[in-house]
Amino acid sequence: MIPRDMHDAATDTAAAPAVHPAVTPMMAQYLEIKAAHRDALLFYRMGDFYELFFEDAVTAAAALDIALTKRGKHLGEDIAMCGVPVHAAEAYLLTLIRKGFRVAVCEQTEDPAEAKKRGYKAVVRREVVRLVTPGTLTEDALLEARAANYLAAFAEIRGEGALAWVDLSTGRLRVAPCAPDGLGASLARLSPREVLVNEQAEPGIAATIEGAGATLTPLPRGSFDSQSAVARLTKLFRVASLEAYGAFTRPELSALGALADYLELTQKGQLPLLSPPVREGAAAHMRLDAASRRNLEIARTLSGAREGSLLATIDRTVTGAGARLLADRLAAPLTDPGAIAARHDAIDWLLDQAGAADRLTAALKGAPDIERALSRLALARGGPRDLAAIRNGLRAAGTIAEVLVEAGAALSPLPPDLAEGVAALLGHDALAALLGAALVEEPPARLSDGGLIAAGYDTALDEARALRDEGRGVIARMQAEYAAATGVEALKIKHNNVLGYFIEVTARHAPRLHEDEAYIHRQTLANAHRFTTPALADIENRILNAGNRAQEIETRLFGELSAAVLAEHAALAGAAAALAAIDVAVAGAALAREADWTRPRVDDSRAFAIEGGRHPGVEAALRREGKTFVANDCALSAGPVGPSPLWLVTGPNMAGKSTFLRQNALIAILAQAGLFVPAARAHLGVVDQVFSRVGAADDLAAGRSTFMVEMVETAAILNQAGPRALVILDEIGRGTATYDGMSIAWATLEHLHDVNRCRGLFATHYHELTALADRLETLTPVSVQVREWEGEVIFLHEVAPGAADRSYGVQVARLAGLPEAVVARARAVLERLEARERGDDVPALLDGLPLFEASATRAPAPAAAAPEATPVRDRLAEIDPDALTPRDALDLIYELKRLTGP
Ligand code: ATP
Repeated sequence: MIPRDMHDAATDTAAAPAVHPAVTPMMAQYLEIKAAHRDALLFYRMGDFYELFFEDAVTAAAALDIALTKRGKHLGEDIAMCGVPVHAAEAYLLTLIRKGFRVAVCEQTEDPAEAKKRGYKAVVRREVVRLVTPGTLTEDALLEARAANYLAAFAEIRGEGALAWVDLSTGRLRVAPCAPDGLGASLARLSPREVLVNEQAEPGIAATIEGAGATLTPLPRGSFDSQSAVARLTKLFRVASLEAYGAFTRPELSALGALADYLELTQKGQLPLLSPPVREGAAAHMRLDAASRRNLEIARTLSGAREGSLLATIDRTVTGAGARLLADRLAAPLTDPGAIAARHDAIDWLLDQAGAADRLTAALKGAPDIERALSRLALARGGPRDLAAIRNGLRAAGTIAEVLVEAGAALSPLPPDLAEGVAALLGHDALAALLGAALVEEPPARLSDGGLIAAGYDTALDEARALRDEGRGVIARMQAEYAAATGVEALKIKHNNVLGYFIEVTARHAPRLHEDEAYIHRQTLANAHRFTTPALADIENRILNAGNRAQEIETRLFGELSAAVLAEHAALAGAAAALAAIDVAVAGAALAREADWTRPRVDDSRAFAIEGGRHPGVEAALRREGKTFVANDCALSAGPVGPSPLWLVTGPNMAGKSTFLRQNALIAILAQAGLFVPAARAHLGVVDQVFSRVGAADDLAAGRSTFMVEMVETAAILNQAGPRALVILDEIGRGTATYDGMSIAWATLEHLHDVNRCRGLFATHYHELTALADRLETLTPVSVQVREWEGEVIFLHEVAPGAADRSYGVQVARLAGLPEAVVARARAVLERLEARERGDDVPALLDGLPLFEASATRAPAPAAAAPEATPVRDRLAEIDPDALTPRDALDLIYELKRLTGP
C-alpha cells in the first residue's frame, strides 16, 4: 500500500513551474485534475484509500461525518484532508449522492512500479475514470431495486420543447415533445433523479426542475447543439443515420444529444449499452400534472411516503424489474384502447389459469435483475455475480416460457402480449448453456476473489488450480516417482526460501543421483546432497505461479463470457423486458383475484359508467380494521358532442366525498394503465387528462398562500381541460371568505360545463350551488348519505341522487371531541344564522344569545368527549366542583364508578 501521504512519490518540493514553484508534482497533478472537475468532490486514489483535499475534504468530512485531518502544506498552509477506504467507498458515495453531491472518481492508471521507472520523483499517473452523479448510478448498492433511476434532459428551441430520459441502469432511452409549461407534469410522471438543462435556460425551468425534487445540472450551450447531437447519437448507436429510429424534431435531437454528451462526460468514454431512442407521441399517455398525482397519491402519499400510495397498495410484483415496469405504467396510463385491451387480455388469461399463474410467480421469484446486470457489464463495472444473474435469469426465462407454452397449448391460446413475451424468452439456449457450464453456482462478489469459473470448463484453469491447491500432492507424487526411478527410497523433495523446491538424499545415496544426468546438483551439506530437475523447477514455477495463473485465466474467461453476454444484449434486454411484463400481468391477475377486481371496458366513446366502484387504498385500510367499504356508482357518460355530465357532490364532512371523487379518478388511471379495477363493472371512454384538485391545500414550501395555490391550480384546469378530460374538484373556493369562495366555485362549474365540456365531479359545502342544476343541463346533484339518530350522525357512505339537506358540521365537530360547551354554543349560533337566512323574524345575531363563558360554566366539557358514556357525562354536567365538600367528592366518585358499570 502506498503511504497515505501527500508526498506520494516526490517528498520534496521539486519544481513544477506550470503551477507554482513551491508545489509538489503530486499536488500539481491533483490541482490540475481538480481544476477540470470543480463542481464535483474529487475522490483521489492513493493506494487503498480515496483521499479528498482542501475544500472538498471539509465538505465531505462534514457530509460523511468522518475525521478531517491535515497532511503536508500547500503554499505554506496546511492541507485539509479526509479519506475513505476503497473497499467501503460505495457506501460513502451513496451518502454523498443522496445529499446532492457529484463525485469525480480519480484512479491510479498505472502501476506505481511503472512510475518509478520514469524516475524517482515521478508521480503515478491518475485519471478521473467516472463522474458519479445522481442520474448516472448503476451499482445495486446505490439504486433502489423497485424504482427506476432516470436521468433526463430538457431542451427548448424557439418555444418548442422536448424531454429525453434514460435509465442508465437498464439502458432504456425515451424522448417526447414537452412544452415548457408541461415540464412539471412530465417530471412528476418520471421523477428523474437528475435533469440536464442548457445553462442559458429561463430561470423558471430551473425552478420547475428543482421543485420536482431532481438535481439540476446546467450544461454549456454546446451540449444542446442539435447539429452535433446527430453526430453524437450516431456514434453512440454505431449507426450511419438516426432515421431508422424515427423522425426527431430539433428539440428532441437537442435533448437526446445532451444526454449523450453527458454520458460521455460522466462515463469517460465508456459508453453504456442504450437501447435506441423511442419517441413517445405527446398524446400516447394520459396527462396527469404534478398536483393531480400528488392529490391522488399515485406513487407517494401526500406526506411523501411510498407506503399507502396507490402503487404500494396494488403492487404484487415479485421482481425489481416488474415493480419498475408497474410504476412506469401507473405513472403513464395509455390512451389507445387497443393497447390497453392487450394488457387486459394478458391479465384475463392468467386469471383463468390459476395453476399456471402460481408456477409463474414461483419462477419469477428466482429471476434476477437481468437489465441492471447487463448495464454494469457493458460499463465494465460488472462482476461475476452479474454473469450469474444473467444465467439465472435465462434459467427462469426458460421455465416461464415452458409454463406459458404448456398452458397455452393445453388450455386456451396465449393472448398476443404473452405470446410475444414467450418469443422473447426463447432462443437463449446457447448462451444459457455457456454460462451454465462456465460458472460455479454461487460466484464470488469480485473477480479478484477468484473461483467464479466452474471446474471442468477450462483445462488450463483446472491444471492451474490443481497445482495451486494440490501443490503438496503433486510434489508428493513426484517424490514417489523419483524414489522409484532412482531406487533411493529415502529420497525427499523439500522446500526452503533460498532454493525453493529441491530433492534431498543422504550423502550415501548421492552418487546414484550424481551419475544420472537428469538430476542437477545444487548444494552439498555435511550429511545431505541436494538436487533439482528441469521438471521440478518447472513444477515449482508452476506452483508458485499457479495462483496467479488461475487468476489470469479467470480474468480472461470473465472477459470472454462478458463479451458473449454483451454480444446478445439486444436479445437479453428483450427477455428482461418480457420477464418484467409477465411479472406485471401475473401480479395484476393476483390482485384482481384477491381483491375481486374486474376487467374494465375501455373504448373511444365518452362513457364513464362505474358500478360498485371502490377506493383501493381506503378499502384496504378498512379491511385491516375488519370494516367493509361501501361501493358506489358513478354515471358520467357523455354523448360524442356537447357538454359532459358533472356531478355536484354534497354531504357532511367525513361522509366520504373525497374518497368517492378520488376513487373514480383512480379507476380511470388503473384501467388505462392496463390493470383491472375495483368495481363491479366499469365502462370508460378513454380519458386523456385527469385533473384532481383539493381546495385549500397548503404549499407553504413554494411560498404561496393556500388560496393562491388553489386558484393557480384551478386556472390550470380551466385553461387546459378538453372534452375527454376527467376533472375532480374537491371543495374549490374554500380558502377564502364564504361569498367569494362560493362565487368562484359557481363560475368554475359554469366554465367546466359550457367551455371545457369535460366529465367531472365537484364536491362542495356550498349547498347554494345546487341551484345551478336548473341552469346547467348536465349538472346532477348527488349527496353522500347520513342518518341522524339521537342527535348524532351516522355515516352511510352511500352516494344517492339529490343534494344534502344540511352540513352536519356541528355534529361532526362533536364526534371529533370538541368541548360540549363549544358544540352547544355553535348549535345556538347556527340556529340563529339559519333562521335569518330563511328570513324568519329573529333578533340580531348576538342579541339574547347567552354569553359563552356563562354557558361554559354551566356545562363544563368532559376531558375527552366520549359520547358513549352519556350517564356519566350527564351527571358530571350537573355538578359544580367548587361547591363540593371533600366528602361529596368522594361520594361522587363512588357514584360515577357505579354508573360506568362493573
Ligand atoms: P371532508 O369533507 O371532511 O373532507 P369527506 O366527506 O371528504 O370529508 P372522506 O375523507 O372521503 O370524507 O372520508 C372520511 C372517512 O370515511 C374515510 O377515511 C373512510 O374511513 C370513510 N369512508 C369514506 N368513504 C367510505 C365508503 N365508501 N365506505 C366506507 N367507509 C368510507
